[in-house]
Amino acid sequence: MSLCDMCGKDTNLVIALIEGTELKVCEGCAKFGKIIRRIQPEPTKKERKIIEKTKSDEKEEIIEVIVEDYNKKIKQAREKLSLDQKDFAKKINEKASLMHKIESGHFKPSINLARKIEKFLKIKLIEQQEIKDKNFNTTKSDAFTIGDILKKMR
Ligand SMILES: [Zn+2]
Repeated sequence: MSLCDMCGKDTNLVIALIEGTELKVCEGCAKFGKIIRRIQPEPTKKERKIIEKTKSDEKEEIIEVIVEDYNKKIKQAREKLSLDQKDFAKKINEKASLMHKIESGHFKPSINLARKIEKFLKIKLIEQQEIKDKNFNTTKSDAFTIGDILKKMR
């Protein structure tokens, strides 16, 4: 924090022209001259951290999930393009056996794989879901703790 050049007060300062000299002074002393510009106080490190934290918290509230009927959607879109599973797998650089598992609903593709399929078939497989119960994990671990206590009591 800088101090007023004239009275030494520790406060928000302004640059003022006083008797021909540029001085960093408080608002009170600035009255003796002419204010050139105000000094904007920089945000402190602590304030910046809070801003960053809020941003990342917002991100965590939305998760990407694969739609329930992904297998039907993939199969339909693939058949529209007159591709069999083998050809389709080749086009997106995946194993035909994997595509079979996915289309039969036995294997949920990863988000990355789903993105690749989405792009190729021009369909939508990924949904953005908001996490409604933010305390889900906390509740789970709390229950675990209670269980542990019960075990110890027995
Ligand atoms: Zn002053």
